[in-house]
Amino acid sequence: MGHENDCIFCKIVNGDIPASIVYEDDYVLAFTDIGQVTKGHTLLIPKKHQENIFELEEDTAAQLFRVAPTIANAIKKAFDPAGLNMVNNNGKAAMQSVFHYHLHFIPRYGKDDGFQ
Ligand code: 5GP
Ligand code: ZN
Repeated sequence: MGHENDCIFCKIVNGDIPASIVYEDDYVLAFTDIGQVTKGHTLLIPKKHQENIFELEEDTAAQLFRVAPTIANAIKKAFDPAGLNMVNNNGKAAMQSVFHYHLHFIPRYGKDDGFQ
C-alpha cells in the first residue's frame, strides 16, 4: 500500500527493505526502530503514506490508536520496562527525519536509560 518512491517506510510496507515486524494488520505496521534509543524501541506506522499529523486522516489516526495499547503491552511483555513514552515528531523543526507518519514507542528503564 505504501507508494511514495523515496520513502523508506513505504519500502518497509512493501517488503522492499527488511524490518523486524512486531505487529501487522490491513492498515498499520509496527516494527523495531533501527536506532533503538532504548531496548525495545518500536515504530507504529500507517501503511498508507501520510507525511505527518498535519496530513493524517481521521480514519488512519483511529487505526493507529486502536492498536497502540496492543503494541505497548507486547513491548511490556517482551522487555518488562518500568514505563513507556509514546513520541511523535511532526516537521523538520520538530526533529522529524522520516516523512511518513510514525509513533515511537520508547520503553523506559529508569533515569539513566539513555532517553531524556
Ligand atoms: P523521526 O526522527 O522521524 O521521528 O524518527 C525516525 C526514526 O526512524 C528514527 O528513530 C530512525 O532510527 C528510524 N529509522 C530510519 N530509517 C529506518 C529504517 O530503515 N529501518 C528502521 N527500522 N528504522 C528506521
Ligand atoms: Zn511512506
